[in-house]
This record gives sequence, C-alpha cells and structure tokens, in this order.
Amino acid sequence: MKRNSDNIVTIDGPSGVGKSTVARRVAELLGFSFLETGAMYRAVALKVEEAGVDPSDTASLTRLLSETTVGFDAAGRVLLDGRNASELIRTEQISSLSSELAELGEVREFLIAIQRKIGEGGNIVAEGRDMGTYVFPRAKHKFYLDATVAERAKRRFHQSGQEDTSLLDVESELQRRDRRDTLRAENPLHPASDAVIMDTTHMSAEEVVSAIALRAKDISLIPN
Ligand code: C5P
Repeated sequence: MKRNSDNIVTIDGPSGVGKSTVARRVAELLGFSFLETGAMYRAVALKVEEAGVDPSDTASLTRLLSETTVGFDAAGRVLLDGRNASELIRTEQISSLSSELAELGEVREFLIAIQRKIGEGGNIVAEGRDMGTYVFPRAKHKFYLDATVAERAKRRFHQSGQEDTSLLDVESELQRRDRRDTLRAENPLHPASDAVIMDTTHMSAEEVVSAIALRAKDISLIPN
C-alpha cells in the first residue's frame, strides 16, 4: 500500500544555504505544496517578542504557546494567530531570537506537531533542519544541502541587500546559528543517514533544483 510519506521530499541544511528558494521551486516542479518550517520558528519568535515574554521563563512561554496558532495560507504566507506575518519575520532580530527559541523543547514540540499534521496528506516539499532526521523520517526523498560558510554569507548578504551590515558580520552570525543548530540537545542539525548530501558551494540554485527534481521525479504529480 502506498503511504503518504512516499510523497514527501525533505530538504535540510544550515542557514543561508538557499533551502527555501530551492524547496519552493522543487515543489512547483513536482506539483507539491511547500512547507517552510523556518518561517514557523520565526513566527513564534515574533509572538514572543511582541508579548515581551522572557524565553527562559518556561511557564510563561508554555502559556503563550497554548494561545498561539501558526499556519500557512493558500499562497504560502505564514500566518501567526490568523494574520499574515510573512514580512514581519524577516528582520535580523527575529532571525536571532528564532535561533535561540529553536533550542527549546517546548517550542520544537509545539511546531513539530503542526508540521506533522500538515504532512499527513503527503505531496509536500518540507525544508528545515530536522525534516529528514526527525519530523518526516520515512520521507521518500531526502536531501541535505551544504556550502562553505563564506559562500553562504555571500548568498545571504546579496539576498538581504542590507547596507548597515558587513559581509563579515553576516558570516559571524551564520557561524553562531550553525553552532546553535548543530549543538542543541533536541533534533540537532545533521544529515539523515539516507539523505543525498549535496555540496552546493559551486552550484547555482537552478542546478540544485534540477538535480533534486530529477531524483524525485518518480513521485511528481506533474506528468512530464
Ligand atoms: O531557516 P530559517 O533561518 O528561516 O529558520 C529560523 C531558525 O529556526 C533557524 O535559525 C533554526 O535554528 C530554526 N529552525 C529549526 N528547525 C527547523 C527550521 C528552522 O531549528 N526545522
């Protein structure tokens, strides 16, 4: 019998490697939905920031999470308590707070339950840090994208267009986030044992998209 997990593609990797761009495009090519889990951690960070809750105050954080909904609309915009938060979550402050909050078991548990619910129907490309290792361990196709920190900093720097930050600042922030992602106790970042590992340092986004879509074409909903 065909399970829904047969129709899940996972794309994991460190910050700034280009996962969202690639995953969105792969989802289009396969006719799947795109699940951007980083946006969900960012939405929780926005909520915590707006509520002025101290992340180390576990009781208040748990209460806040119990009053929070995170989801997506049909256009893929992230919804925090029903309102479109897709612009507000793209600040440096939210990046940094989301990385801190992602270390907390309460936050991960809350979001992973929603992610698995969204994945129940299959036909998704899910991107994040723990998609192949923990959230969707039975996914049919798993990819782990990597690139040198210098290359990732360059990509992030050009993408953000921020004039008040230097390339070196972006690189040290990425290193800080890499450390948090790989050293945390809960679902740390590492490739799943059955993931295809791609060093994308010298690849364009389109090359990465084509390589993934080619391997995953057996589950595509779009006939070619
Ligand atoms: O991918 P993005 O930078 O938007 O993710 C925001 C933060 O959420 C990251 O710094 C990462 O620590 C965390 N994250 C995570 N697990 C995921 C997706 C994101 O821990 N599946």
